[in-house]
Amino acid sequence: MKETKLFDFAIIGGGLAGLTLAIQLKQAGLSVILFEKEQYPFHKVCGEYISMESWNFLERIGIPLAQFNLPKVNTLRISAPNGNTITHPLPLGGFGISRFTLDNELYKLALQLGVSIETGCTVFDTIKQLIKTSHGNFTARHIIGAWGKRSKLDTVLVRHFLQPHNRKLNDYVGVKYHVKADLPEHTIELHNFKNGYCGISKVDQNQYCLCYLVKGSELKKMGGNIKALEEKVLMKNPFLKKYFTHFPSLYEQPLVISQISFEPKTRVEDQIPLAGDAAGLITPLCGNGMSMAMHASYLLANQLIQYSNGVQSYEHALKAYEQEWIQLFERRLKVGRLIQSLFGNPKLTQIVLALLKPFPSVINALIKQTHGKPF
Ligand SMILES: Cc1cc2nc3c(=O)[nH]c(=O)nc-3n(C[C@H](O)[C@H](O)[C@H](O)COP(=O)(O)OP(=O)(O)OC[C@H]3O[C@@H](n4cnc5c(N)ncnc54)[C@H](O)[C@@H]3O)c2cc1C
Repeated sequence: MKETKLFDFAIIGGGLAGLTLAIQLKQAGLSVILFEKEQYPFHKVCGEYISMESWNFLERIGIPLAQFNLPKVNTLRISAPNGNTITHPLPLGGFGISRFTLDNELYKLALQLGVSIETGCTVFDTIKQLIKTSHGNFTARHIIGAWGKRSKLDTVLVRHFLQPHNRKLNDYVGVKYHVKADLPEHTIELHNFKNGYCGISKVDQNQYCLCYLVKGSELKKMGGNIKALEEKVLMKNPFLKKYFTHFPSLYEQPLVISQISFEPKTRVEDQIPLAGDAAGLITPLCGNGMSMAMHASYLLANQLIQYSNGVQSYEHALKAYEQEWIQLFERRLKVGRLIQSLFGNPKLTQIVLALLKPFPSVINALIKQTHGKPF
């Protein structure tokens, strides 16, 4: 046993859900340990457009976003594979910041507040209050799962979304670059191609995040060759042809993740509450998975703090969290899956965009269905 201390809470996963939860619990006077398998700062596959829903929250917990001079986004431009476009204002809008920067700022804040953080540390298993990791065993009264889209822990917990019959929404691949570009700063672009879509928007350091999601089967057809996929499939869209040809990548290699699942997930497993993508991932074209991860951590922190203050039992805290989660997010996830299903087949995408173009109020309503309110 490396640590003999019994922490109040152990959080597995130091992405946005895990880090913001650790910060809130620590600010409430609780002892917290967080495990992250990578070393900060590091890049992540993500479109890096954050809806304004979480601006106030991040400032409130101690991230001075206003000082970072970040690009603000208020317009969405979507293209069909043939290059036809729709441009539409975003009711709430968003801002651009790389995960390299944001996660690292949250990590530094958590450390400064006194959260114990084990980086480069993979959690293998948990048994009641025991956490088995690559750095040895640790103990905590309660364990929280914030391990993101997919982790070995999902297999250990035999989670339903991994069962073989749940394959339909289980096999997506995400690819990301940071590029130099000269596109309008206030616009996020979403360009469709066969079985996928690619977003581009400005982030900090004068860079643009170019990130796409594609069905795993499409990459398989190209023998797993990312370059071939881009040349033969993505570049059929004239916008993507221009961007992949003229915008120099700042990475030597793209960042790639596979086996992304949009299947519905449970919010609590074995008395372990789950936050962020571990509880359910919204389709990226909605552009608010990050805000949802932080919003879930806000809901969970409130319930856990009430439990720690003796106001309610642990079981009640988990039930209340689950109910709030369902009320706030379940419908958004469903609508996100529906919208994603309309984009993929090039002909259908063209028809959908042509039908939507004359009806901005319908586009507004769809955007509102997938977004929440500031918290
Ligand atoms: C292609 C794509 C584009 C996207 N674009 C956007 C966008 O533009 N805007 C938006 O709002 N959302 C976007 N999202 C969604 C967004 O990235 C996620 O919703 C968000 O990152 C969720 O945060 P999280 O904390 O739950 O998970 P993560 O940020 O993934 O953090 C989980 C952490 O847990 C760690 N971990 C996992 N297993 C273990 C273990 N066993 N032990 C220790 N550590 C572990 C991981 O290393 C990771 O750091 C996109 C998603 C994809 C796939």
